[in-house]
Amino acid sequence: AEPYRAQSQQAALDALHRYFGYDSFRTGQAGLVDAILAGRDVLGVMPTGAGKSICYQIPATLLPGLTIVISPLISLMRDQVDALNDLGIPAAYINTTQDMDEQGMVLAQAARGDVKLLYVAPERLETERMRSFAARVPISLITVDEAHCVSQWGQDFRSSYLGIGEFIAALPSRPTVAAFTATATQHVRRDIVALLNLQHPQVTVTGFDRPNLFFDILRMPTNAKNVWIANYAIDHADESGIVYCATRKETEALAGLLAERGVPAVAYHGGMSAQNRNDAQRAFVTDAASVVVATNAFGMGIDKSNVRYVIHHNMPESIEAYYQEAGRAGRDGEPSRCTLLWNDSDIVTRRRLLDMDSQNDRMSEDEREVVRLSKRRLLDAMIGYCRTTECLHAYMTRYFADPTAGAPAGTGAAHAEAAETAQSAANANAAQSAPSQDESAHAASDDDPTGNDPTPAKPNGCGNCANCLSTFATIDVTDIARSISRCVHDLNQSFGMGKIVAVLRGSKTQDLLARHLDSCPSYGVLEQVPQARVRDVLNQMTTDGFLTVSEGRLPVVHFGPRAAVTASGDFHYEIKRVERPAAVGGRIG
Ligand code: ADP
Repeated sequence: AEPYRAQSQQAALDALHRYFGYDSFRTGQAGLVDAILAGRDVLGVMPTGAGKSICYQIPATLLPGLTIVISPLISLMRDQVDALNDLGIPAAYINTTQDMDEQGMVLAQAARGDVKLLYVAPERLETERMRSFAARVPISLITVDEAHCVSQWGQDFRSSYLGIGEFIAALPSRPTVAAFTATATQHVRRDIVALLNLQHPQVTVTGFDRPNLFFDILRMPTNAKNVWIANYAIDHADESGIVYCATRKETEALAGLLAERGVPAVAYHGGMSAQNRNDAQRAFVTDAASVVVATNAFGMGIDKSNVRYVIHHNMPESIEAYYQEAGRAGRDGEPSRCTLLWNDSDIVTRRRLLDMDSQNDRMSEDEREVVRLSKRRLLDAMIGYCRTTECLHAYMTRYFADPTAGAPAGTGAAHAEAAETAQSAANANAAQSAPSQDESAHAASDDDPTGNDPTPAKPNGCGNCANCLSTFATIDVTDIARSISRCVHDLNQSFGMGKIVAVLRGSKTQDLLARHLDSCPSYGVLEQVPQARVRDVLNQMTTDGFLTVSEGRLPVVHFGPRAAVTASGDFHYEIKRVERPAAVGGRIG
């Protein structure tokens, strides 16, 4: 076997050189190519841009039969196929943009052996035509791209991916199966292996840490964000940057503001015509525009290596999404900055979007619930990232190694059990609080009338993230958390956040008095604590699983799975306050 192995490794290197013009494989590639050529199933987990495609394209050129590539996006399919044909590798795709005749022609070509790689969407595998084709034609390799789509625990589950395993099982002889993804946490990884029925796969995970990226998190009021971004872009006028916004409207408003202030910026979102999107993309890639303000529609397939900063105007839906978007900075390895701006109302928005997203008609009620819960869990890990005092590189690396590890308790961590039940706390907030909550929340973190002496935590770690360069004062809020729990109990778990805060702070509103809530034992016990602080602790308690908030028009706060902990004698609860050196930048005002 050894001489054969050496021979096939040499053949792979030759193909790399001949078709792609590269001299050597990158980390992880050679091993994967090697395993596939030896007929072993593989799972390649590599960050975007690491070079997954080559891992199956090289074997496809060398294996005797056809390689079928299952890929979720029609637009990417065409790009890939065009690129391969340009390199002299015969490739084709079959999808819904073609009529029956065209599809027939492509299949005939593939059957003759004139196509080495055939790209298809997963839905296609369910068609009779494809099944009978696959039964006739020798297939050497099946590649599953974006394999995380098979898992309901990932961010973009596709039920059509669940049919892939069965399609492979029905083939007359089993080809090698190669699965690839950029965003596999351990849970997702296990799902891929099980649901695609990979046989003793070689699993290769290459580095997720991007040491050249500086990670920064800034909590600020919504109305301060655009000004901050504009100032940043002006201060970095000679650099390329991407700003991600949650909505189309925001991208246009911000691109407009930047242009007004002399920054060449373009907007990019899914609501624009293909032509306009192309123009925007071209302007950015050619440096005619230094900044693109985009929704998450932007980025797939963008190859611009010198993006110096990525700013998120809102909190993304998951760490996976954040990593992928922020990771578009610094592809050239030069120092680059990823800044995430957030506040509590982002959480409200995200939770609302997530509940809307789960209203997918093609799913059963049960499926929808699973998807909704898994999305909440992903979001809670994202919130944990915003609130952690830990090294951000470490948080992310650990997240990809083991998502349930989360952050330490008390910093808004993503605890598995919490995530499964933590409900839209923030909806309650939206319904019942004054609109200026952001500002007040911010102000509250700068003075602490509870008289607690903040204990500064010592700076740690990597030296290349805001947390490692900042000192944190952790503020002991154990008593506040206990009072909140007591109040939820006093109110029989039947009121929303607004009422809880009002009772605790001894509010004298008519409504409250009419309901005799002033006779609760916990009435007024937090009179001295600012409303924003109480809310902060309440919010954090819901992300940490001490409390949950029911769905519905009038959300109600209940005890969460960890509620009992607050009653124990050694319960200790903290929130953080950032003490950021001016040099780190990003101070508001
Ligand atoms: P992924 O699918 O992991 O996001 P791609 O397969 O699109 O990444 O590859 C990203 C870029 O890296 C492409 O431009 C590709 O040509 C390049 N690339 C891949 N492998 C190598 C290599 N061994 N040497 C140099 N460049 C490579």
